[in-house]
Amino acid sequence: MSMKFKVHGVRGSVSNSSPEFDRYGGNTSCYEIEIDDCQIIIDTGTGFHNVELMRKQKDTVIIYSHFHHDHIQGLSFNKYLYDNFSPILLSSALCNANTLKKILETYYSGHYFPIDLFGQLKHLKIVEFNEINKLLKGKIKLSSTKLRHPGGACGYRFEKNGASIVTLFDNEYHDNQKQDLIEFCEGADLVVWDGMFTEEELLSKQGWGHSSIEKAHEFASLSSLKRMLITHHSPDRTDVELDKIGKTLDSNIEFAYENQVFSF
Ligand SMILES: [Zn+2]
Ligand SMILES: [Zn+2]
Repeated sequence: MSMKFKVHGVRGSVSNSSPEFDRYGGNTSCYEIEIDDCQIIIDTGTGFHNVELMRKQKDTVIIYSHFHHDHIQGLSFNKYLYDNFSPILLSSALCNANTLKKILETYYSGHYFPIDLFGQLKHLKIVEFNEINKLLKGKIKLSSTKLRHPGGACGYRFEKNGASIVTLFDNEYHDNQKQDLIEFCEGADLVVWDGMFTEEELLSKQGWGHSSIEKAHEFASLSSLKRMLITHHSPDRTDVELDKIGKTLDSNIEFAYENQVFSF
């Protein structure tokens, strides 16, 4: 196996379980990259609930794009956390380990959560980002870039055996990112893009930190990327609406749906 990319959660902001959202899925941000001896999770939104964690002989790593609610809220709700105590490393290129520890420990304590998650689950280990790079050395190449989002966010690029996957969420795309992102996405087999809004919706959502479906289209045509996956769907965008807009997209661009799998 080279790299397997699996989608576990495609919604932005808040999950939605109504029947109209069934096909694309209602869970918030969570993605997984699997290579022979390692499992890398990007963000732990509610989609993390469905990730099969810590299978035999795999290192498990969780990296965060950023720490908004919809990207961390599922961390405590994966059943495998409570019956397997192999170490799980958590990190982010956005901040150092101390800051990440403070953010996650606050979120999973006191007023917000019934148990002291990190106090009880000692196998959850928050580490500096360079520790992750050390662990992955020789297995998969991981690099990061800063994105345009309130409070910051990081995009990641994963490369193995000539194949590459780039994740760009959450990001309010601006022309001044064009050159950097074109370079970051150069030749990528798959680029995952935050397309929460349409251009029309974006008119009243400036500064909310998200890009549009139209901008995905524009960027894909400028870049040498091979395939684009639009994600972080608005929690109000139904399957029917996504299907309708999907028909207008170029053949190498599509909307992400839960349980979608790509192999490179
Ligand atoms: Zn988000
Ligand atoms: Zn965000």
